Amino acid sequence: NKKFILVKHFEGEIDKSCLKLEEENVPTLKANEVLTEALWMSVDPYMRPYSAHLPLNSVMIGSQVAKVVESKNERFKVGQLVLGYFGWQTHTVWNPSEMSSALGNPYVLPDFGDLPPSLGLGIVGMPGLTAYFGLLELCDPKPKEVVVVNSAAGAVGSCVGQIAKNKGCFVIGFAGSDKKVKWLKETLKFDAAFNYKTKDVSEALKEAAPGGVDVYFDNVGGEFSSSVLYQMKDFGRVAVCGSISSYNADHKHLPKATIIQPPLIFKQLKMEGFVVTRWKKRYEEGIGQLLKWVKEGKLVYEEHVTEGFEKLPDALLGLFQGENTGKAVVKV
Ligand code: NDP
Repeated sequence: NKKFILVKHFEGEIDKSCLKLEEENVPTLKANEVLTEALWMSVDPYMRPYSAHLPLNSVMIGSQVAKVVESKNERFKVGQLVLGYFGWQTHTVWNPSEMSSALGNPYVLPDFGDLPPSLGLGIVGMPGLTAYFGLLELCDPKPKEVVVVNSAAGAVGSCVGQIAKNKGCFVIGFAGSDKKVKWLKETLKFDAAFNYKTKDVSEALKEAAPGGVDVYFDNVGGEFSSSVLYQMKDFGRVAVCGSISSYNADHKHLPKATIIQPPLIFKQLKMEGFVVTRWKKRYEEGIGQLLKWVKEGKLVYEEHVTEGFEKLPDALLGLFQGENTGKAVVKV
């Protein structure tokens, strides 16, 4: 078994030396246990803030699509593909009745047909569910409404924009390169898209949505969000999903927040933060719907694949450098 151990908590940017690669023998299975071998590993932005609470010398947190290679448990059969939060390790011995993760218990992937099983980490997994429940439950977008999403070419954002398009909304996306902007407009059919690194956010919104914004799905936070809030329409809805622009910040010495209260009050906005596990009991419904849309071609997906388990730290760092279009995954 190969595994990455968190030997030091990150300070500032992702520092690869905080993660140490180790090898050990796989233990023999006891009654009711299952052995899985990782095929695809996920790297996600949450790993930066969540790892701050991980005890040092633990296996780094994360989910994977893994194959059951040995089983002494009736519920899991050899050959099945499982989605589990087993952390950054190639082999995991686990007892299904003792697994209880706040992020969700391991489950057998539904039949993906010809689609790659790695989608279980992306559009038909946690990021897709985040887009699905966050947008539909908190923002209730209606046809012709203006929906703004940032980190729009990423795993969550690209799904949010497409669901909103399918609902008949006018969708505006922001991403960090011209190539991503082109993909949003040409492949995902966003109505407008901008490179936030070269275009002022307020100016872009004045151009694309002169009447204002109804729904804002926020993956980025910070100054970006302050700008969007001032462009909202009365009774607009804001889903606060992520704050990647501040994940690397030193939270003891953060700059004073830009004042956001006036638009909240005078435009009577609804702004709500959420964690996708709120809808844990409805994951099956969400996964079924997302998979159906992907099979029908109503959700287009992209994956940014890094080859090799050893490259996990680089892949995680890449998220914060905007390397990925679509879901970032590592092929073991
Ligand atoms: P992405 O696939 O969107 O990857 C991260 C992207 O973030 C990068 O490609 C980059 O794109 C962008 N980015 C990186 N640094 C910055 C920055 N400083 N300012 C602006 N953009 C930046 O990741 P996910 O789709 O998995 O996650 C998107 C967001 O959703 C994250 O904030 C994540 O924490 C959050 N999330 C929240 C969940 C919840 O339950 N609340 C669940 C899942 C995700 P670009 O080129 O556009 O800069």
